Amino acid sequence: MEFGCMDAQAIAEGLRSKDFTAREVAEGALGRIESVDASINAFLEVTPDLALSAADAVDDAIAAGAIDEVGPLAGVPVAFKDNMNLTGTHTTCASRMLEGYVSPYTATCVQNMLDAGAIPLGKLNMDEFAFGSSTETSAFGTTKNPWDLSRVPGGSSGGSAAAVAAGMATITLGSDTGGSIRQPGCFTGTVAVKPTYGVVSRYGVVAFGSSLDQVGPFSRTVRDAALAMNALSGRDPLDCTSQECSVDFTSDLNAGVQGMRIGIVPEFMNAKGLEPEMRAAVQEAAEKLEAQGAQMVEIDLPNAAAAMSAYYVLGPCEAFSNLSRFDGVRYGYQDPGHKDLNSQDDASRAKGFGPEARRRIMLGSYLLSAGVYDTYYYPAQQVRTLITQDYTRAFEKVDCILAPVSPRTAFKFGEVSDPTTMYLSDIFTISINIAGNGGMNMPLGLGADSHLPVGCQLIAPPFRDRNMLRVAAELERLYGSASVAPRFAEKEE
Ligand code: GLN
Repeated sequence: MEFGCMDAQAIAEGLRSKDFTAREVAEGALGRIESVDASINAFLEVTPDLALSAADAVDDAIAAGAIDEVGPLAGVPVAFKDNMNLTGTHTTCASRMLEGYVSPYTATCVQNMLDAGAIPLGKLNMDEFAFGSSTETSAFGTTKNPWDLSRVPGGSSGGSAAAVAAGMATITLGSDTGGSIRQPGCFTGTVAVKPTYGVVSRYGVVAFGSSLDQVGPFSRTVRDAALAMNALSGRDPLDCTSQECSVDFTSDLNAGVQGMRIGIVPEFMNAKGLEPEMRAAVQEAAEKLEAQGAQMVEIDLPNAAAAMSAYYVLGPCEAFSNLSRFDGVRYGYQDPGHKDLNSQDDASRAKGFGPEARRRIMLGSYLLSAGVYDTYYYPAQQVRTLITQDYTRAFEKVDCILAPVSPRTAFKFGEVSDPTTMYLSDIFTISINIAGNGGMNMPLGLGADSHLPVGCQLIAPPFRDRNMLRVAAELERLYGSASVAPRFAEKEE
């Protein structure tokens, strides 16, 4: 049996009725990784010992009659983006800079999943330090899209998306600063949630843009995403931006959309770069939701067009500041043979970071320099306020917004070679990080032309993430839940 292909509910039922043990689930998932990851390269590290000991702990608890105490994700195979610390495993951020670095502690988001009973399979590939939209900037090879191995899985959480799409894990975690959960979710046909800023602790997650970063789950069902959110959310004294959160994210999944007000943004739907099949997919979702009793409302986000410019000021500035800690002394690659600290520092950073990371660092350094700061950083913060106000106004009229995630379906390796075109991948996702709302990809089957996964973005008001999950659950009833990439599965059988 392919356990990574099962959802959390099926695993819980199987364990409860003693159809299988958690050890069998762990072994099944590890076996699947062994047989398929050579062609996908989603995993940077596999952790069989941790997986099997976590599984045995679940089985011991069940044998002792404590089945109700094993946790809501008991026996569920999970894996983590490689910017998340897990004691004793490598945390490389897919960078030469951190090659060989071993986590001395565990991130709160990872610990929360383990405390819920999940089985940790390992660490997942990503764009270097989460800079990118294709996982092509990883220093350790690209990750392939399980729907078409000649195409990218999106990024930066490409490994997290591909591991779920290929049936290697039931739930994975990614991080999203400008779209890095939602866009790979769209490219791989997975449910992919970026919670409201503050819902999930970032303690132990290597920072990119601290005012934008948020951790969230990938899964094949909306219910699994909600279960993961239950495990992940809440105040963590180790991350001062995390908030108290006592909601049950599964509570509205069966509520339907009757009477819900769902916003459509004409600026997004009519955007020049939006491919016809993506537009058609989102439009069809809108029509179906309307037929189920939702009220579709046109809304205006007049400043959203400036989001991209603001993000490529704020993001690099924060990245420049966060990445200054990688100096080859306390962390990371140290170039040998230097007599003074400055030349050692220069050489270590020049060799340790790849081209995209260096581009962001240099851009941030320039943008924050005296004389330049007032021209870019300060106005970018003002734009941020305007965008946030746009969303506040919009959410007075609607409970959730329906939008595209990505302008197009998964592209081929090497197809997008200039940085600016790559940056445009996130044109529909970035404003959500800037305002701090919740946003998610909901798969909508395959595109009529490309036969590749298409999806829509659902955007929720801050701390109303349940609204988007409720709409997503309705779409799942209408479209069926996301499947493991079948073309890829065929190849393996
Ligand atoms: N693709 C965007 C970037 O390169 C977003 C990345 C992310 O969300 N981590 O900045």
